[in-house]
Parts: sequence; structure tokens; C-alpha cells
Amino acid sequence: MPIATVNPFTGVTEETFTAHTPEEVQEALARAVRAQRDLRERTFAERAGWLRRAAELLEAEVDTAAAMMTVEMGKPIAQSEAEVRKCAKGMRFYADHAEAMLADTPLADASAVGAGAAWTRWEPLGVVLAVMPWNFPLWQVVRFAAPALMAGNTGLLKHASNVPRSAVYLEDVLSRAGFPEGCFQTLLIGSDAVAAVLDDERVVAVTLTGSEPAGRSVAARAGAGLKKAVLELGGSDPFVVMPSADLDAAVATAVTSRTLNNGQSCVCAKRFVVHTDVYDDFAARFTARMAALVVGDPLDPATDIGPLATRAGRDELAELVQDAVDRGATVLTGGTVPERDGWFYEPTVLADLPEGTRLVMEEAFGPVATLYRVGDRDEALRVANQTSFGLSSSVWTTDADEQDWFTARLEAGAVFVNGMTASFPELPFGGVKASGYGRELAAEGIREFCNLKTVWRA
Ligand code: NDP
Repeated sequence: MPIATVNPFTGVTEETFTAHTPEEVQEALARAVRAQRDLRERTFAERAGWLRRAAELLEAEVDTAAAMMTVEMGKPIAQSEAEVRKCAKGMRFYADHAEAMLADTPLADASAVGAGAAWTRWEPLGVVLAVMPWNFPLWQVVRFAAPALMAGNTGLLKHASNVPRSAVYLEDVLSRAGFPEGCFQTLLIGSDAVAAVLDDERVVAVTLTGSEPAGRSVAARAGAGLKKAVLELGGSDPFVVMPSADLDAAVATAVTSRTLNNGQSCVCAKRFVVHTDVYDDFAARFTARMAALVVGDPLDPATDIGPLATRAGRDELAELVQDAVDRGATVLTGGTVPERDGWFYEPTVLADLPEGTRLVMEEAFGPVATLYRVGDRDEALRVANQTSFGLSSSVWTTDADEQDWFTARLEAGAVFVNGMTASFPELPFGGVKASGYGRELAAEGIREFCNLKTVWRA
């Protein structure tokens, strides 16, 4: 796959980038190690100052940064702007809280271990490789970089090959903000060059957000090298609606959650599991709203749904829907590739999916929703948990017992009750099962790439 910016709205290649040579990668690795030796000696206040400056730069440049993302991968412009602001917020969060999150923890009764004093301290691990996807070109990276840099690690970014402008921009912003040379570098390399970087002894850990195959490949390599890995992979989140739910809120949120980022988010609600008492009402209202979405130029503020990021992604989605149609699923709206330039797919709602349909188990990375009618909470839970994924989940019910029952039993890294799944700097984020392991964000996220050192002093 060439490293290039290809506008998904037009299909035109806007810019092609030359990949870094193996020698250039070696130089970057050497710089990353040097920078890390320096960064680990800096105070939290110094690191926080640079990160706050980076947040200011992002906010000052929100218009250009947002347009850059929209041209690179097609998300509606208002969502790009929101993403830039979220990055600034995330940076400030870690600038404000990293020191407390990584504070020493003393053992209250040191005499119990025969010590005069005993405590734990968090230390940076070293150079961390980040393999990142194109769907949130800035946020996916910032949610790794902000905590990693505050902890005193340095970062090497291998971004998706279709968002090189975003990758180069992030390195530039962090450099202009004051981070010393080598603290955060973009490697312009293809996925076939990742293994060699990961095998290098100067790289101590890896974080990957992306598909299950990419995760398995990188995790195996990291395992062979005994290197820490954090994986945030795909999801096919259930959105469970029970009879007591506020249906207006559930329907509105269902549409937003399914179509955010043109439907290309790991934590989009993808499977709508609806109790039979409210199924027909929910299906009619949800379908009407999906059908009314404005599909068009992502730079136009009136657009709800832009093109998918790549032609391959659009074709894969069309194949999944065709498989469902061929097996006899009901198409409530959409179901076709529109006749127009760009990699569009119509907002689509499918129901009555027969057993064996690929979409029952696989992730739909685009604006395609599947509906499931269930008779009671046990059946709702069974359907919700039936995929191999376990990223997040959403349950809609005003019954307090039911809320607790689902919360305890949904197989997922998160449960959002009467709300839409989102990531927040304040809350840990990650999955179980084939959605990966480890956590990003919050205190748990910053600690993933730290050595928890136990100190025993006589
Ligand atoms: P990929 O997993 O292929 O790409 C994500 C990142 O991993 C990119 O930087 C990619 O590089 C890199 N990569 C891919 N394969 C390997 C490998 N074997 N070793 C090392 N690095 C690798 O995602 P796609 O863009 O192909 O999307 C496919 C599917 O992945 C989507 O349909 C969706 O299901 C899932 N996905 C999930 C995301 C999430 O947020 N969890 C985000 C994006 C995709 P390069 O671009 O150079 O190939």
C-alpha cells in the first residue's frame, strides 16, 4: 500500500510520500533512545508545559487540522473539528494529572516486610512503538502520546498508510510545542516494515489500534520478543433496548452511535438488540432517521455521512451486506453503493439476519446497522454476547435491576447505560475477547507503559 493522501470524496491522489529507508529508521531509533534518556530526567512540570503548548497549537490550528483530516479520510468536518479539540483536552488532562497518577505509593506498615520503609514508584519503560489506524487520525495517536510522553517515554508512530499528513502534522505540533528532538517521531513505513522495528532491542513495547489480523500479527511478534503490548482492536458493540427505555432518546442515540465517523469507529453501536415489545416502533423510527441522513461532501457542514476512508473498506462493507441479502435478510433502507464518485455507502438497516450471515459475527465498518428481535433479557444477553468481540456495549432500560443485571453480564470492556459509548481521558478504554487487551486513557492507560518498581529500604 503506498503511503499517500487519497481524497475519498474524489478518489484523487493529493500527495504521495516517500517511505523512510531502513537507514532512516535506524537514525530515528537512535534519536528516540537519546531523547528518552533526556526526557526521563525532566520534571513533570517541564513535560506538562510542552503538552499544554501543543494543546494551544491544536486549538489555534483547528480549522486547518480538521480540513486535513477530512480530506485524508472523509469524516464530516464538524466531527474533525471536535476531534482536534478533544486532542487538546486530552493533552491538558495528562498535563494536569500525570504526576499524581504516577506518584509513589508507600506501604503503610513497612515493618510487616522487615523494612524501614517500602514503596512503589512508576518509571518510564523507554521507546514505545505505536501502530495506529486512520479512523481518528489525531485522537488515536494523542491518546497514546500524551500519557506516554508525560510518563517519560518516547514514541515512534507508524500511522496508517492513508493518513500520512496527519502523522507528519502530529510530529510537527509536538516539536513546535517544545518537546526535544526525538521524543515523538513519525516513521513513514508500510506495515511490512513494522516487525523489524518491533524486533529492535531499543523498542521496549508496542501499542496497536486496528484490525484483529494486525493485532494478532503484532502481538505474536511482541510476544516472541517478550515486549509489552496493548491492543485495541475491532468491535461489534451491541445496543440493547428493553421495554422501559426512553425510546426517543434511544433512537436518536442509536443513529448517532451507528453513524459517527461515517460508521467507522471501533465503538460505534453496530448491532441493535431490541425487545419485541418495542421492536417494531424502534425499527420504524430508527430506519426513518437513518434514511433521512444527508450523504455528501464531508467538507460541507450540512453533511451527516461522508465517503468511507478507502475503496477497499467500502467494497468490503458492500460484500458483507450482499452476503446478508443473498441469505435472505430484510433490507429496511439502503443496501447499495450509490452512483456517484467517491467511496460512499448508503446508510443501511438490515433485519431478520439468518444464522450464518457474516454480519451476525463480523464487524460492519461503515453506516450499516443490523437489528435483532429478542423476547426477554436472557435472549438479549445471549445475542449481545454472541460475537467474538468485546469492546463496549450500551443498554437502554430505566429498570434499576435490569441495569445492574446487564452491567454485570455483558462481555465487554465497558457498559454505557442509557448513553452512547465514547472515550474520555478520565475513563479507561479497552476491550476483552478479540477486541484486545490492556487499557488506554485514565491512570490505567498511563501506567501500561511504566515499570512499577518496588523499593524496599532497610
Ligand atoms: P489495519 O488493522 O490493517 O490497519 C491499522 C494499522 O495497522 C495501520 O497502521 C496498518 O498499516 C497497520 N497494520 C496492518 N497490518 C499490519 C501488520 N500485519 N503488522 C503491523 N502493522 C499492521 O486496519 P484497516 O485499515 O485495514 O481496516 C480494516 C478493519 O480493521 C476495519 O474494517 C475495522 O474492522 C478494523 N479497524 C479497527 C479500528 C479500531 O479503531 N479499532 C480502526 C481501523 C480499522 P498500513 O495502513 O500501512 O497497512
